[in-house]
Amino acid sequence: MKNVWEEAQYNLQKAADTMGLAPEITERLLTPMRFTEFTIPVRMDDGSKKMFTAYRSWHQNATGPTKDGTRVRPGLTPEEIKALSLFMSIKHAVAGIPAGGGKGGIKADPSKLSEGEYERLIRGFMRRLAPKGAFVDVPGADIGTDTRAMAWMLDEYEQMAGFHSPAAVNDKPFGLGGSRGGFEATGWGVAACADRAAGQMGLTKSRVVIQGFGQVGSITAQSLFESGYKIIAVSDVYGAVANAAGLDIPALMKHVESTGKVVGFSGGQAAEAAALLETDCDILIPAAVQDVITEANADKIKAKLIVEAANAPTTPGADEILLKKGKFIVPDVVANCGGAVVCDFERTQGLSNDYWSLEKVREKLQERIVAAFDEAKAKGEECGVPMRQGAWINALSKIRDAINWRGWC
Ligand code: NAD
Repeated sequence: MKNVWEEAQYNLQKAADTMGLAPEITERLLTPMRFTEFTIPVRMDDGSKKMFTAYRSWHQNATGPTKDGTRVRPGLTPEEIKALSLFMSIKHAVAGIPAGGGKGGIKADPSKLSEGEYERLIRGFMRRLAPKGAFVDVPGADIGTDTRAMAWMLDEYEQMAGFHSPAAVNDKPFGLGGSRGGFEATGWGVAACADRAAGQMGLTKSRVVIQGFGQVGSITAQSLFESGYKIIAVSDVYGAVANAAGLDIPALMKHVESTGKVVGFSGGQAAEAAALLETDCDILIPAAVQDVITEANADKIKAKLIVEAANAPTTPGADEILLKKGKFIVPDVVANCGGAVVCDFERTQGLSNDYWSLEKVREKLQERIVAAFDEAKAKGEECGVPMRQGAWINALSKIRDAINWRGWC
């Protein structure tokens, strides 16, 4: 199986070939503009010093300052960071955001660090990250980082810069210049895409299965539940719960808030998590981790519509099987770009000092997601390719134009 960076390069090359992208531009985009690996020395609570490996990938900045998350997890790889930075270039372009693609990370297990050690690690990352700043490279949160970590990053940056600059870091707490709706953004976007596609396929208010009930999965479920969809099964890393009549999502969210898992919810029956993706349903939303729909299970998927909330949940081989079977796939770069859109709103608010209501954020997000969905789908239809390639071609056309205008190729 290809690693996640090779898969991302494969998608890029495929779209580039279909649209006839100039080879020098393709070559330029197949490699990050800049990639760095650095070490962060951290004073541990017992007085010892420990070195942590960190990465940052700046995929391209023709379309604007590089932007996006900081992932902290023990098995982090440079390939993962490069792939995610390319995805961010594509997502920003798909959503019409004037930004390039960036991604960073630290190889560490936050659960094995004390709060003080974790804070020193995060501050150390920001100190050593270069270049950075609101008009250069704007880090945000990802797996293993949260609003608190982003507050430390912003504080570290502002202490070095000597002035306030809320737009230099994303995903901050609201009181430090963050945006309302940041937590909900990706889930709202996924639900908006699912609803848009379902409406066009005659599947409105139909049966939905969601893998993963964290930030994205739970908000997607809540939003679709509020719109009248029947969420018949959900899973998390511990197990699954199902109810053919539809789960009461607000009650399930309360259960998860108090127990930390979906299993044991009294409003449904325990189900087999391993077979969740194969459940008889209309809409399937993988919202957990990458590479869960593979050549081994693609053939058994019954949903007519698959909305990729997670990044890269479908392997290229599985993608081909699903398309042959007539399934419609809303690709990750469109389905989960809501978080990137609200990060862009956060930057706009930080630069203008004008902070929006939750309603305004949701309304503007909805507009942007629907436009991103429609553009990607229309481009796919125009080129006679699936929506995934349509989204990539649409994004690559915008990046190509920016590169050409700058005279880089
Ligand atoms: P999260 O950590 O809040 O939730 C992940 C959920 O998936 C949890 O319920 C966890 O128990 C479950 N899970 C993990 N491994 C699983 C497995 N093997 N089988 C079933 N469930 C499993 O993460 P999140 O922020 O909700 O992100 C989910 C996915 O969406 C990730 O792929 C992430 O990269 C992607 N994504 C997130 C955002 C965002 O704004 N949070 C934006 C874009 C993409």
